[in-house]
Amino acid sequence: MQEKKGIAILGSTGSIGTQALEVLAAYPDYFDLQVLTAGKNADLLIEQALKFQPNSVVITDESQYQKVKDALWAADIHVYAGQDALCQVVESTEVHTVLTALVGYAGLKPTIHAINAGKTIALANKETLVVAGELITNLAKEKAVNIYPVDSEHSAIFQCLVGEFHNPIEKIYLTASGGPFRGFTHEQLQSVTLEQALKHPNWSMGAKITIDSASLMNKGLEVIEAKWLFGLQPEQIDVIVHPQSIVHSLVQFEDGSMKAQMGLPDMKLPIQFALTYPARFQTDFPRFNFMDYPQLTFEQPDRKVFKNLDLAYQAMNAQGTAACALNAANEEAVAAFLDRKISFLEIGQLNEYCMQSIPNVLHPKYEDFVATDAQARAFVQAQLAK
Ligand code: NAD
Ligand code: MG
Repeated sequence: MQEKKGIAILGSTGSIGTQALEVLAAYPDYFDLQVLTAGKNADLLIEQALKFQPNSVVITDESQYQKVKDALWAADIHVYAGQDALCQVVESTEVHTVLTALVGYAGLKPTIHAINAGKTIALANKETLVVAGELITNLAKEKAVNIYPVDSEHSAIFQCLVGEFHNPIEKIYLTASGGPFRGFTHEQLQSVTLEQALKHPNWSMGAKITIDSASLMNKGLEVIEAKWLFGLQPEQIDVIVHPQSIVHSLVQFEDGSMKAQMGLPDMKLPIQFALTYPARFQTDFPRFNFMDYPQLTFEQPDRKVFKNLDLAYQAMNAQGTAACALNAANEEAVAAFLDRKISFLEIGQLNEYCMQSIPNVLHPKYEDFVATDAQARAFVQAQLAK
């Protein structure tokens, strides 16, 4: 019998994490769940651990360690706490693939540890590539580690490239739903609420990425993610708004031919493909019906009104730590918006102000990313305190 694939899920209690567990549960003979981790949600982590019986779990919120420990000791599951424990559990010899489904900059360090330990990466945590794309892709090359995309657009590009890896890409188009505020003017955006921003038309996701989708920051982060995953220049990456979210992205080759990957919006498919590549496993996910979508439409994004998308292109062109600063500012600004401390438009304003103010370090090392991240967060916090 074929050996099972050992999986670690960082961020198992989130939107991607819980959907990944559904995928794993469907193929018990193929996957062997080794590690589960959560930030704060101890109750769900305990429930998942009792059901899936991993070797180890991590709760990064140390104040909940005892609770998780007490609940799992009889099941003989190792329990660890704190951010650094993430870096250790991914190195376990039983782990083959690490699914990075935690949110934000916190994903960077454990991903570096996983690559150093030679683990395959199924990458949902796009912030890692936004912050330190060059460092991560160079390290992955050095360690001969594959990074398989989970983000639906990047999975689409990857699926289009299967069998084409030796053919140069002329251009890619990342599709964007446009979010709940598609077509809004600057004036209309002035009065939008948190509740409206949290209502994504096509996808159900964690709070941070849902706000990023409404502000087009998510698409900006994805542009940078694509640059690093597929080795592209900024001018080779275009964004096109496609409100139905059926065409998940497109590749244009040098002969002018275009390939698109399509399907109903369901993250379980890209999660599964990242874990089973190059195989495709049979599923009972709902199938696309053309008659339900007589029209698939496309339009230009408004980069003036949704300035975050433009800021991402600026950061990508500036290189160095510019995207790291933008990402940190955005994480702080989105958290403040979720706390009802700032308005929706102030997210983009803070991001822009921070990017203009934090010095860009060219040819950064890991320590430069750590310093820039801290500097940018402090900058935004100082603005918020004014
Ligand atoms: P989420 O908020 O639903 O879940 C995040 C998970 O990470 C939770 O398990 C949480 O406990 C954990 N976590 C949060 N902060 C942490 C920290 N500081 N340290 C350790 N663990 C922490 O988020 P999500 O929507 O599942 O997104 C996860 C990642 O996947 C993000 O980078 C997001 O951009 C990306 N992504 C998500 C979707 C989606 O459909 N949800 C699609 C594409 C990409
Ligand atoms: Mg996406």
